[in-house]
Amino acid sequence: MSDKRAERIADFIEPLRVRPGAKVHLERDFDPRFKAGLKKRDGPELLRTGVSLLAEYQERLAAQDTYGVVLCLQALDAGGKDGTIRHVMSGVNPQGVRVNSFKVPSAEELDHDYLWRYAKRLPARGEIAIFNRSHYEEVLVVRVHPENLIRQKLPEGSFGPDIWDRRYREINRWERYLTDNGFKVVKIFLNLSKEEQRTRFLKRIDLPEKNWKFSAADVRERRRWDDYQQAFSEMLSATSTRWAPWYVVPADRKWFARICAAAVLAHTLMEIDPQYPEVGEEARKDLLVTRRALEREAPAGAHADPYTARHSP
Ligand code: ATP
Ligand code: MG
Repeated sequence: MSDKRAERIADFIEPLRVRPGAKVHLERDFDPRFKAGLKKRDGPELLRTGVSLLAEYQERLAAQDTYGVVLCLQALDAGGKDGTIRHVMSGVNPQGVRVNSFKVPSAEELDHDYLWRYAKRLPARGEIAIFNRSHYEEVLVVRVHPENLIRQKLPEGSFGPDIWDRRYREINRWERYLTDNGFKVVKIFLNLSKEEQRTRFLKRIDLPEKNWKFSAADVRERRRWDDYQQAFSEMLSATSTRWAPWYVVPADRKWFARICAAAVLAHTLMEIDPQYPEVGEEARKDLLVTRRALEREAPAGAHADPYTARHSP
């Protein structure tokens, strides 16, 4: 693997990363229209490069059994989570990737602690789990609509005004625990502007084949835009850590958001640098014995080892 590729990707995503400890003010610090000087026509080629890099690294990740990856995707409605997942994962082996979408919690989920349902969907070693919405809803929608908190059946005295700081702390520690135990957590926020959200909602109304995607609830949530911006800003400030950083991906241009998301995931995998397991001396000897046995099974007229015959010059 050339270090150049890794360096280029690290440089590309650096402006998107939320520095641990930084006090984020979303609207001031991150421009949803930023495109790093790229042109839309550069998009397909760059995405292809990113996707093939991901395919290469995901294959290596799947071959080892030390590390797994959790990619958390957060966005406001019409932010492009679904399209991002579809495009970014288009080249990877579906056996190694699981997408988990988190909706309004069920009765069973509410009967457990708030991280339970997310813990249940964690990847195995070798896998990538994509969280389409994630445990961060617990400090976003639940914060903007505190009635959600009532439904969570918390003990008396445990939901005072300090609950959000406590949740940030609990989430950071949980992610630290996962990281220390081989599960890398990486987090992407698709940062959409209010005007682009309006445009996308209108498109969903204007095009009959998009109507199913439109929900009146989304427009209700839009009225709480400023509260969400505030909740996102505080959450980003409190939970971008050295071990599990946040990346704020400019989302007004879908083609650019997809390149960024692919780059963030590729960077994460490159940092892990998964290696194909090496076969030991003894196992190698066993393989050679088996090989000889298989060669002896060759029917009359067939090459002893058709693979070698086909591939040697
Ligand atoms: P899409 O609309 O593209 O299909 P989506 O992720 O918006 O995808 P929906 O079924 O529309 O899916 O919405 C899921 C809803 O569940 C969101 O409004 C979200 O805020 C809500 N939700 C997710 N987690 C929680 C939670 N822990 N508590 C309360 N509401 C939650
Ligand atoms: Mg929705």
